[in-house]
Amino acid sequence: MKVSPCLCTGLARIRGSPVARVESDGVRLTGVRLTGGTLVALDAQVVAPRLTANAGLLEPLGLKPAEVRMGSHVLGTQVEADRAGATGVPGVWAAGNVADIQAQVITAAAAGLAAGAAINADLAAEDARRAASARQPGSKARREGTEVAADPGGRPRAVAYNPIVSRQA
Ligand SMILES: Cc1cc2nc3c(=O)[nH]c(=O)nc-3n(C[C@H](O)[C@H](O)[C@H](O)COP(=O)(O)OP(=O)(O)OC[C@H]3O[C@@H](n4cnc5c(N)ncnc54)[C@H](O)[C@@H]3O)c2cc1C
Repeated sequence: MKVSPCLCTGLARIRGSPVARVESDGVRLTGVRLTGGTLVALDAQVVAPRLTANAGLLEPLGLKPAEVRMGSHVLGTQVEADRAGATGVPGVWAAGNVADIQAQVITAAAAGLAAGAAINADLAAEDARRAASARQPGSKARREGTEVAADPGGRPRAVAYNPIVSRQA
């Protein structure tokens, strides 16, 4: 075990022996007891928490939180997502602390709003893709009961989808 002052801060730097417990005189901090038995006297102690994403429900979908580092120090874990909250799994968005361990209430709420807008846009785009696909002659929708009216040039110009016919097919 070695205790040496940090050159930049003057704070004690302890190497080679983990802290076993925090010691106090019953009122205030007095120091930390190392596993080797040495007491290092302290006036104050700063503890860096590790922020772990509570993302167990996402793991069956293949989304595993990744480590967030500052230099070699692991700050915690988060699910990787883009600015709109889209994850690597299509159809899954993440917002707030699960995707950003540094988020505070206001940024977590803003991320939720951005993800909500992106989800809405994704659903609208999917609807548009399906509608465009149903307009194609020979499409599955047409075979299952969609009527396609063609203009004189043969291009479809209207689609009437009949779900009852579709179910009976
Ligand atoms: C000690 C502490 C102090 C903080 N102080 C501040 C502050 O002063 N100002 C500030 O802006 N921010 C502060 N924050 C940060 C702030 O709390 C978070 O940024 C914010 O709560 C993130 O919101 P969230 O919706 O992403 O996550 P959360 O608020 O953690 O909400 C996630 C919710 O999902 C639920 N959940 C998780 N898994 C499941 C599941 N499988 N099924 C159903 N529900 C589930 C959880 O129970 C929880 O209710 C503080 C955080 C901590 C820990």
